[in-house]
Amino acid sequence: MSVGGTNLCIDPGPGSLIRCLRSKPKLDPSSLDGILLTHRHLDHAGDVNVMIEAMTEGGHKKRGILFAPEDALEKDPVVLKYLRGYLEKVEILRENGRYRLGEISFSTAQKHHHPVETYGLNFNISPHTVSLITDTRYFPELPSLYRGEVLIIHVVRLNPIGNDPVDHLSIEDVKTIMQKSKPTLTVLTHFGMTMVKAKPWEVAKALEKETGMKVIAASDGLKLDLKEV
Ligand SMILES: [Zn+2]
Repeated sequence: MSVGGTNLCIDPGPGSLIRCLRSKPKLDPSSLDGILLTHRHLDHAGDVNVMIEAMTEGGHKKRGILFAPEDALEKDPVVLKYLRGYLEKVEILRENGRYRLGEISFSTAQKHHHPVETYGLNFNISPHTVSLITDTRYFPELPSLYRGEVLIIHVVRLNPIGNDPVDHLSIEDVKTIMQKSKPTLTVLTHFGMTMVKAKPWEVAKALEKETGMKVIAASDGLKLDLKEV
């Protein structure tokens, strides 16, 4: 996420550094001001150490803030201890916390229903609001916690399965959330195989038709300009 001169990398999963360098135009990790982990799972945090190294130029420049839930840092940490000294600061994400990184302000809501400590985010980027619903099982309060005009939502499954051991959302859940929180634009992302096989752009089109609300499916390298939403 880039606002004014502030750059924040959210959930650097495996391959983040390579993707930054291969992107056109190239994204320069040494221009990052912060890195945020919504939770400690590997697909969200696999490259966090690599990205801390890149942001701080191998520790030569002490800079940047890392935002992460406590369980990503405490026992069995995903952030290596020797790298933490390279950072200007580590801020622990907690329930209903308010945070600021340069020109980016954001808050957390209550903990998600997920096997590890997990937080979604509400960004206030005046005059816009953006909500990010990261991994979670559906719970009744979920729609009311994320009311941003742009809703970015992690949807792993096309159809709900009875007792999902990994606690993820399905398209059915997304529909319920959209109808209650009424975003101007919904962006679907973080697809599992059932979503990939169903062609996410077609799922988005069908959801748009069914709800009468704007929906797009994210793809690698997608750039979203808030001024155009
Ligand atoms: Zn997860």
